[in-house]
Amino acid sequence: MGSIDVQSTSAENGSAPASSADGRQKSLLTDGMNHISNDPDGTPPDKPKELGPTKKRMSSMLPLDVGTRVMCRWRDGKYHPVKVIERRKLQATGFSDYEYYVHYTEFNRRLDEWVKLDQLDLDSVETVVDEKVEDKVTGLKMTRHQKRKIDETHVEGHEELDAASLREHEEFTKVKNIATIELGRYEIETWYFSPFPPEYNDTTKLYFCEFCLNFMKRKEQLQRHMRKCDLKHPPGDEIYRCGTLSMFEVDGKKNKVYGQNLCYLAKLFLDHKTLYYDVDLFLFYVLCECDDRGCHMVGYFSKEKHSEESYNLACILTLPPYQRKGYGKFLIAFSYELSKKEGKVGTPERPLSDLGLVSYRGYWTRVLLDILKKHKANISIKELSDMTAIKAEDILNTLQSLELIQYRKGQHVICADPKVLDRHLKAAGRGGLEVDVSKLIWTPYREQG
Ligand SMILES: [Zn+2]
Repeated sequence: MGSIDVQSTSAENGSAPASSADGRQKSLLTDGMNHISNDPDGTPPDKPKELGPTKKRMSSMLPLDVGTRVMCRWRDGKYHPVKVIERRKLQATGFSDYEYYVHYTEFNRRLDEWVKLDQLDLDSVETVVDEKVEDKVTGLKMTRHQKRKIDETHVEGHEELDAASLREHEEFTKVKNIATIELGRYEIETWYFSPFPPEYNDTTKLYFCEFCLNFMKRKEQLQRHMRKCDLKHPPGDEIYRCGTLSMFEVDGKKNKVYGQNLCYLAKLFLDHKTLYYDVDLFLFYVLCECDDRGCHMVGYFSKEKHSEESYNLACILTLPPYQRKGYGKFLIAFSYELSKKEGKVGTPERPLSDLGLVSYRGYWTRVLLDILKKHKANISIKELSDMTAIKAEDILNTLQSLELIQYRKGQHVICADPKVLDRHLKAAGRGGLEVDVSKLIWTPYREQG
């Protein structure tokens, strides 16, 4: 759980990037577009006839190499730059006998997809060899975080990258293996690669038991399993119940298989996350909607049992069918309520994903500005931190980004003009789902024995 990703709450903050979560829902349209010929002569792509001179030249560059940069027609009908991550042979013959797994360089990696040749504008293929070599070394082998780090420090080349980072990135760029999963009453399209055991390599759909999270290749296996499985909620202790919402605390050491299954499942929707198998060191907080059929997982966050860096959250995810309902905010708020009960300040594990940062900024803004609005007297960062369990650094960064901190006479001063506070609060949006602390029955984790 080396990184944290919040996939859930971008829309709640009203600032979802163009490439955000809703993109997947339109993928049927994309599939349709795969079959539209882009040939100006109206030649179907799978039956090439006479070749013009341009096409002859193009045919020499086919199939395109992995790493090639080219323009690709997206679901919006426009062309966007992509990088070829992988290619595979099709059954048909001719030029279009390969399809390509591409990454839209302007968009989030969850929109990576297989495209047919007719979606690619071969005139735009970049053929400079140096570019490709450079690309393979630095582009492909770097995470966004590392790239940023290197950009910031103006280091040329890749000498800085150690073997672990390279391995991590290789996992990061892998082609999505499982395309869809069935979980409870939902069929969900996945977003990212997840390293399921090799015996699942030949399958593109997995069937999950929504309670114990065991996964199977065939529907009949799942049906057989459901007749035997006696779980109706996550294993572990129910530590919160309010209306139909329940939170379960699952100890990774006591429920190893469940913890591992949850990690496999979560990785399908988390981009930049290293999957650790030593789930022993973590507690999983699984949020459920409950009805007469059982408690159905809507999302979770994980937390290290002991964190020297005062991390109070490692990974966080709201499953796609439950997104945009305020659950991401609820999970973040819940993690801080646990920190308050522990009498500690907390902060999410870094690096934060882009969406994660947006969600946290929204949460921090709402919590801090609510206090500043009500609090008439002067208040210090330390006092804010004590009240909220938010780490002082995060408070300072949030207030600075909102330009609410001024430096006067050698001191940081919080400027809390009510009108400005209201404007920021409005921009940060409201959450419908509050954590009712009176319903939280929990004692902090202590090692047994
Ligand atoms: Zn089960």
